[in-house]
Amino acid sequence: MKTPRQKMAEQDPQERIANFDEVPYGYTPEQAQAEAARCLQCQKAPCRAGCPVEIDIPAFILAIREGDFAAAREKLLETNSLPAVCGRVCPQEDQCEKVCVLAKKGDPVAIGTLERFAADWKDGEEADPEAGSAPEKAKVAVIGAGPAGLTAAADLARMGYRVTIFEALHRPGGVLVYGIPEFRLPKAIVFEEVEKVKKMGVELELNQVVGATLSVEELFDSGFEAVFVGTGAGLPRFMGIPGENLNGVYSANEYLTRVNLMKAFRFPEYDTPVIRGEKVCVIGGGNVAMDSARTALRLGAEEVTIVYRRSRAEAPARVEEVHHAEQEGVIFKFLTLPLKYLDDGNGWIRGMECQGMELGEPDDSGRRRPVPVPGTEFTIDCDLAVVAIGNDPNPLLPRALPELELGWKGTIVADPETGAASVPGVFAGGDIATGAATVIEAMGAGKKAARGIDRYLSARKS
Ligand code: FAD
Ligand code: SF4
Ligand code: SF4
Repeated sequence: MKTPRQKMAEQDPQERIANFDEVPYGYTPEQAQAEAARCLQCQKAPCRAGCPVEIDIPAFILAIREGDFAAAREKLLETNSLPAVCGRVCPQEDQCEKVCVLAKKGDPVAIGTLERFAADWKDGEEADPEAGSAPEKAKVAVIGAGPAGLTAAADLARMGYRVTIFEALHRPGGVLVYGIPEFRLPKAIVFEEVEKVKKMGVELELNQVVGATLSVEELFDSGFEAVFVGTGAGLPRFMGIPGENLNGVYSANEYLTRVNLMKAFRFPEYDTPVIRGEKVCVIGGGNVAMDSARTALRLGAEEVTIVYRRSRAEAPARVEEVHHAEQEGVIFKFLTLPLKYLDDGNGWIRGMECQGMELGEPDDSGRRRPVPVPGTEFTIDCDLAVVAIGNDPNPLLPRALPELELGWKGTIVADPETGAASVPGVFAGGDIATGAATVIEAMGAGKKAARGIDRYLSARKS
């Protein structure tokens, strides 16, 4: 009989909404070996083409099957500097697992969960990550310590460059620390992987807002020969409807940053408060909306409703995230558009006026366009609203370097293969170049840019 795909055990939904601990527990060694045994070790291994950080998937899975978990971990680290992060938040169902041969007739190998298992494996013999052979090549500056910047920095360090990351916040990790909640991605795991990047010789300067406290010109003047910009898409979008300035209307960015990065869930131990609504509405249908809704539950909300203008089929959130939100009791109101936030007379939100929608013809994104249905207006009571309808590229650095060619909504135009931007020596990748996307796409862009920078600097030397 064929072995079914192994499932991770999870915290019970009723227990987990009262804590911020991680929801899935990961595989046991027995489960990992059983899952690894499902892999056919295909010679052409189509799964590899689905991985932007070029993991040798059959090789690390074979090591798990043979019980050599440390070897599996080392195999991952050869090309991926953040495997424990990817094993948790990479949308593997749309990447490597989508093209696994087993997906043609059934469940693909659980590549992401196996990656998580191997990356988490601790046996007391972990070797320090491979540092660049005596870092003696040129100095390269990386702006932003998110997944794009960390990957570019690690790969450049491996090639022997002297790399310094300049990060605006007081913690490295980008969205991995300020956006994605603890219960999906424990921050200790991110910091552990960042430490490994530092052990490769990468220097990290925190609290440095390039474009404000330091300019790109100053970086070049101080001896950096190339600059990688990985500043992300951290500018929250609003709908521009009445009442957005009321107390109790947050952008998801502010809400999640207060809770994750500033640890508001441990207030007053951590001195950053957050408004804890009893009836919370979250607007949007992506991962950010699911994270905000599930965070509100854990902060004690009695009722959390996700309001999304399209239907469930168009919601961009990962299926797993919608499933977890439903299990935890989040209410979904699909085909619903907020029209305005209602004032309680004292400047605080008391509810939202909404309208019903129906699906029309497909729009530019290929998804069916939501169209308002006249006469379907109704009110939802709420004392907190979190707007999670997307983010735009961070404008600070492009504003400070006006020679940079910009694209749609202020993205930095960069060659998708090399990361080269319009200013010589400046490279860009991740959300700042593509608009808000995924962790693994940002990492893939960081990897390509590292090679692009190496080619650029090698050509200058010859
Ligand atoms: P970021 O992660 O945004 O990092 C950019 C870094 O640059 C930040 O640390 C920022 O402080 C710093 N910076 C900005 N400006 C400056 C400056 N001027 N000077 C110095 N530093 C600067 N993707 C997934 O694949 N799976 C998920 O489950 C998922 N969930 C998400 C949940 C939330 C709440 C959010 C917001 C996003 C989620 N994403 C998810 C998307 C994913 O996190 C991003 O696509 C990814 O982090 C982009 O990486 P990046 O390195 O380009 O940018
Ligand atoms: Fe798959 Fe993502 Fe892991 Fe690559 S990093 S093997 S795409 S889960
Ligand atoms: Fe294994 Fe699937 Fe990759 Fe084949 S395609 S090597 S079965 S993970």
